[in-house]
Amino acid sequence: MLIVMTQDATAAQIDAVRERVTQLGFQARPMPGEQRVAIGIVGNDGPVDGARFEGLPGVLQVIHVASPYKLVSREWHRDDTVVHLPNGATIGGRQICIMAGPCAVENREQLFETAESVARAGAVVLRGGAFKPRTSPYSFQGMGEPGLKLLAEARERFGLAVITEAIDEPSLDLVEHYADIIQLGARSMQNFALLRRAGRARKPVLLKRGLAATVREWLLAAEYILAEGNPEVILCERGIRSYDDATRNMLDVIAIPLVKQLSHLPVIADPSHGTGRRHLVGAASRAAIAADADGLLIEVHRQPDQAMSDGAQSLFPSQFVELMGEVRAVASAIGKTVQSPAVAAQ
Ligand code: PEP
Ligand code: MN
Repeated sequence: MLIVMTQDATAAQIDAVRERVTQLGFQARPMPGEQRVAIGIVGNDGPVDGARFEGLPGVLQVIHVASPYKLVSREWHRDDTVVHLPNGATIGGRQICIMAGPCAVENREQLFETAESVARAGAVVLRGGAFKPRTSPYSFQGMGEPGLKLLAEARERFGLAVITEAIDEPSLDLVEHYADIIQLGARSMQNFALLRRAGRARKPVLLKRGLAATVREWLLAAEYILAEGNPEVILCERGIRSYDDATRNMLDVIAIPLVKQLSHLPVIADPSHGTGRRHLVGAASRAAIAADADGLLIEVHRQPDQAMSDGAQSLFPSQFVELMGEVRAVASAIGKTVQSPAVAAQ
């Protein structure tokens, strides 16, 4: 970190900054320039909180030389993290992982029929919310624990791994018990107590990008989870809010390769929430795979027009079959393959 002093900073102000650096356990290296003094900080083996200097008299600017996150950064961990699931599926590396299923678990028939169709088409992970974070308190809030039990049954029946969302600490306890991946939704990305709890979980965590989160905030949220001891985090770009309401969100496709450059964690895309419209999900999926996403999270419903949530963006099973063919074609064009259930089951 570099602390840049104003042109008229006094010697006493410079000394006060040096003293604060020393108090924090680091060493200060003043660098006198033509017009002003800059003070470098050395001796830190991780990020330093710049806010501790910003308010001091005579400080013009604090410049972060290293990234503000450490554990998630590629600077500290060069190789890609690969997350392994109990059914043999992996997330990260050269093989693309497809996760699909309904927005919410509604009942046994709905879940099982949808699960069977996505497994047949090539998905290796089944999604389905049992705890739904809905904008309106009057909307369907999810089945709760009975929904988790259905997901666990579907896992056994179809050889899929299961991902489902936790919205608070009690639901995280249950999701950790029943599921293979704990999903933290966009609305929870800055629930720091929940991030810490997920960091103590013994299951991988999929962390969605917040509705208006910068890449830096998203990576710092992931840092919370790693800092508590859980190294298995999957990042999910699910679109950010823009000024234009022509689509539900704006899928930030270029954030995928950007984050993969900044971090060793796998990055997947959610084209369903990223667009909000069924007919845009295919194009967004192809773009995300071309942009090097490690996987996709797609909403599929056996009868989207009857869905209790997110029907407009849910694919019909036949559309999902078609999409899988397109995803395989784009993957092979960039030298990657899509995991097949048979591979995952080995
Ligand atoms: C979901 O996956 O159903 C969901 C609620 O997603 P998000 O947190 O991205 O809105
Ligand atoms: Mn949804």
